[in-house]
Amino acid sequence: MVPGERPNPWRLILLGAPGVGKGTQAELLTERLGACHLSTGDIFRAAGKRKDCDQSPAIRAALEYMRRGELVPDSTVWEMVRERSDCILCRGGFILDGFPRTLGQAESLKDLMEKEKLSLSAVVDYELPVDEIVQRLSGRRTCEECKSVFHVKERPPKVEAVCDHCGGRLFHREDDRPEAITVRLEAYERSTAPLIQFYKNLGLLLPIVAKGSPDEILARTMEKMDKLADDR
Ligand SMILES: [Zn+2]
Repeated sequence: MVPGERPNPWRLILLGAPGVGKGTQAELLTERLGACHLSTGDIFRAAGKRKDCDQSPAIRAALEYMRRGELVPDSTVWEMVRERSDCILCRGGFILDGFPRTLGQAESLKDLMEKEKLSLSAVVDYELPVDEIVQRLSGRRTCEECKSVFHVKERPPKVEAVCDHCGGRLFHREDDRPEAITVRLEAYERSTAPLIQFYKNLGLLLPIVAKGSPDEILARTMEKMDKLADDR
């Protein structure tokens, strides 16, 4: 589905640590703005389900790196995004989620957009204090059978430790233990700090406090974006 041409399309990049609810915001914003949503996570998940012969060269190369437990290099990630460049050139705007991850990728994107005479509207950065992220993520419980995710406080199952959908047992994933979360968050901060600085220098960074319900966060984002559009 290709959204139609819009007078002032939004071209956005979303940033945010694991646990801030960036994926949910990407879906809500896509719906609200009618922009094209490009998520590298979705591309990988979809690719994993397809047969080898159906995959593009860049995806096949990326999956090969992942199978070997190696980081997918910048150039391969960039090729993957290039294969979806229709989305970036979309006249209805776009929302990038999971990309760019590195300065190199950010610079490649900037070059491509300049060549196409497109400009980025904003880089939305969802922020939440570390202890709140740890609290959110460490309360998650996953069903052993159907992999549904619950939360001990925010979305508890009807019966403790039992899945509402299939009756399977709920467990605490290793990844969702506080020590593991802290390590993940530190790695995220380290890798994202140069990107945040890059977009701050370009005057594009739009920090958003990611507290409250998904609708509250969306409302806060839209308000800041409207203000930004008025100021320009
Ligand atoms: Zn289940």
